[in-house]
Amino acid sequence: MAVLAISKLPVRRGVAARDEAVALRGHHYLCLLGYSGAAYTPAFGRHFEGLIDRINVALRVDGFARLAVVRGRDAVCDPMCPGRFCNSLRVLPIRDARVLRYLTRLITTHGAEDCLPQGLPVRVGTEVQLDRPLLALMREVFHDGSIRRGVCGGCPHERRCTEGAARGFVGAKLELG
Ligand code: SF4
Repeated sequence: MAVLAISKLPVRRGVAARDEAVALRGHHYLCLLGYSGAAYTPAFGRHFEGLIDRINVALRVDGFARLAVVRGRDAVCDPMCPGRFCNSLRVLPIRDARVLRYLTRLITTHGAEDCLPQGLPVRVGTEVQLDRPLLALMREVFHDGSIRRGVCGGCPHERRCTEGAARGFVGAKLELG
């Protein structure tokens, strides 16, 4: 499946989008939060950092970064996974869906609907306009563990991500500013 590009959606605050939205499947919204350089391979790490750099520039210059919710392989893994082995992992779509449901609740509870030009819920096809308040909120619930429940268990990076959150995301590539 080609990575879905969402480049013609309305953007908030009348600001032109810096870039095409970065297409992310559900659980990668979490992986993004604390990534500090440990990847499956050096090439994977360079690729992921390139995406995070794009997001950092958009946050710095525009105040928000455009992310698009997609199903299956996305901007993170699609170019880096010739084996497509995760197609056979039935647990991944379940984890993705859990994150999207949690994000919907989080955004509703905190009145952050501004981040969703198409409105709630957060689902495949939605654009998320990630700004610093939403990023801070996501990191907070990542740290307290609630958003990770049923998602991160069994991931080879779980310990690193948990410890990184406990250290206040020091060293994370995604910049809160
Ligand atoms: S533990 Fe794994 S799935 Fe969870 S945020 Fe970290 S890298 Fe992503």
